[in-house]
Amino acid sequence: MITIKSEKEIELMREACRIANLAQKAIEAEIRPGMTTLDLDRIAEKAMRDNGAIPAEKGYPSGIKGVMDFPGSICASVNDEVIHGIPSKRTILKDGDIVSVDLVAYKNGFNGDCCRTYLVGNVDSEKRRLVEVTKQAFFEGIKYAKKGYRLGDICHAIGEYVESNGYSVVREFQGHGIGREMHEDPGIPNYGKAGHGIKLEPGMTLAIEPMVIMGKRNILQLDDGWTIVSEDGSPAAHYENTILITEKEPEILTLE
Ligand code: MG
Repeated sequence: MITIKSEKEIELMREACRIANLAQKAIEAEIRPGMTTLDLDRIAEKAMRDNGAIPAEKGYPSGIKGVMDFPGSICASVNDEVIHGIPSKRTILKDGDIVSVDLVAYKNGFNGDCCRTYLVGNVDSEKRRLVEVTKQAFFEGIKYAKKGYRLGDICHAIGEYVESNGYSVVREFQGHGIGREMHEDPGIPNYGKAGHGIKLEPGMTLAIEPMVIMGKRNILQLDDGWTIVSEDGSPAAHYENTILITEKEPEILTLE
């Protein structure tokens, strides 16, 4: 079931999303070689809690017997890690790395979800291009995030843009509706058919999140039960915002 948010609910969404973006800004201001992904986790968690929010990813159930619930306040995925990397004091960021930080702030019953891929120190031009294309894929997608279009128009635009740049989109994971729950209907794949899928309506709040691999699209899951890596070992990037469908242009709730 797809929820249409009321004006009051949208205000609460705006606040959760504002804090999610603040947490990203706090990381952006401090990230540098020599930090660990656990350092990033601590920065984000403090930013969220200082603003009255809770890091919603912490304790997220794995749903798999024998696999721990998610222990971090953020997902931190380095280089060939695509998504769901577990923050660790053993993962030290090196000059030239890229790291995708995906986080969700929960406040007053609502969730705000966003991801950025950060450049650590001096990153080579190939990886920088991957990060840029992944971010731009989001903006290509949301050109269709308005009344009068269908969900498949967004999915198609993202997939086409990524593949036309020579990269692959991950198929096994996707964006999603968001609100009181972190994951609501509809699922939003990063590929699809234009003109297909549900009609977009004002009041829908959607987390749109291209996950892009430089090489082939195949993925593997590590033994920790969480971390997803590219099978061919090539780097991956991830960019996400929570948006609101309106009568006109979409409102990007997790950007200023
Ligand atoms: Mg996310």
